[in-house]
Amino acid sequence: MPTFTIPLDTSDSTASPRRRSVPVAIGSVTIGGVRPVAVQSMTNTDTADADATATQVIALAEAGSELVRVTVNTPEAARAVPEIVARARDAGVAAPIVGDFHFSGHLLLTDVPECARALDKYRINPGNVGSGKRHDEHFRQIIRIAVANGKPVRIGVNWGSLDRELLTALMDENARSAKPREDREVTLDAMFQSAVRSAALAEEFGQPHDAIVLSAKVSGVRDLIAIYRRLAAETDFPLHLGLTEAGMGAKGIVASTAGLATLLLEGIGDTIRVSLTPQPGGDRREEVRICQQILQSLELRHFQPQVTSCPGCGRTTSSFFQELAERVNTRLREQMPVWRSAYPGVEGLRVAVMGCVVNGPGESRHADIGISLPGTAEDPKAPVYVDGSLRTTLQGPRIAEEFLALVEDYVARRFGA
Ligand code: SF4
Repeated sequence: MPTFTIPLDTSDSTASPRRRSVPVAIGSVTIGGVRPVAVQSMTNTDTADADATATQVIALAEAGSELVRVTVNTPEAARAVPEIVARARDAGVAAPIVGDFHFSGHLLLTDVPECARALDKYRINPGNVGSGKRHDEHFRQIIRIAVANGKPVRIGVNWGSLDRELLTALMDENARSAKPREDREVTLDAMFQSAVRSAALAEEFGQPHDAIVLSAKVSGVRDLIAIYRRLAAETDFPLHLGLTEAGMGAKGIVASTAGLATLLLEGIGDTIRVSLTPQPGGDRREEVRICQQILQSLELRHFQPQVTSCPGCGRTTSSFFQELAERVNTRLREQMPVWRSAYPGVEGLRVAVMGCVVNGPGESRHADIGISLPGTAEDPKAPVYVDGSLRTTLQGPRIAEEFLALVEDYVARRFGA
């Protein structure tokens, strides 16, 4: 199997020290400790369709997803898992492939042992493993299979499927107390209790402490922050972060970013996922790119060169500035597959494309290489700054081509052998 390593985090750019969780090995990847936060995604194909699911797993992994989760909801899906994993490995994908189980996980993992062996981790939702006595029996069955196969598990609590018995018990207890808490507080407490009690139960059934990951997903940003702060303070398990049911488009991106960024800057979180509702026929890899952009914007990890460009205003009445910003972004994106291996460290490159003299020279000086275009009524000249100093001034109809050539020269010179 190809090896896969998440690079060690050598930066000290987090606002708070990183929470030190217990490292957990998941297939070829280890998360936790103080390792860099890993990006996770989930397929939305029918897992029983091995061809479509393997294709999407490969696409997500190639886009940068460092763990890929697939739903395992039927016997057909469970039977397709070994083929999906084999196809992904044949394609050179080393990212762990995780099975997402609800309701029938104990049966599927028992009835299809090759599925249990092929997966790198099992996600268990303690709210969806049965109720009453059957809850513990089903849970024990899954954990015994995890132990027998040496697989880690994620105890993934979700408030849309919270353990009703636990919630009811805590609500009743709260109603009887002298100082009742708000329902929201009790619900968050139930989520916390569901996660930690399930982890304790898993250990009681033989699952090693260093083979357990926790998550507790909610759909409200403030609740997300509250529950994860508590999990981070009171446990040492690695934490998978994500706002569940984040929604579509800008709403989903902004809400996820608000919640994840707050926690990540407090040093909380070992893996992340952005659970966007895609547009019909949309590109599933978008959730991977957003995770990467969150981590890169927080300067926790670097994946792609970053282009700083201003929004433009009344000083940029032609479209040339927007076109150049777009061309630079496109060129960098296109070059990265080649640059990544030829020029180690190039993912940290910072380029500025600015619209006029107001902030253009200053922002360009802060970048590794930047251009300040002439705004309306300015001299038709575009100074280019390299490593903080004026390098040259471009003018005429080939400004775009000449600037792109300067960027390529800079990359080769600075990041080349
Ligand atoms: S840098 Fe110039 S063009 Fe860009 S937003 Fe500022 S004032 Fe407007």
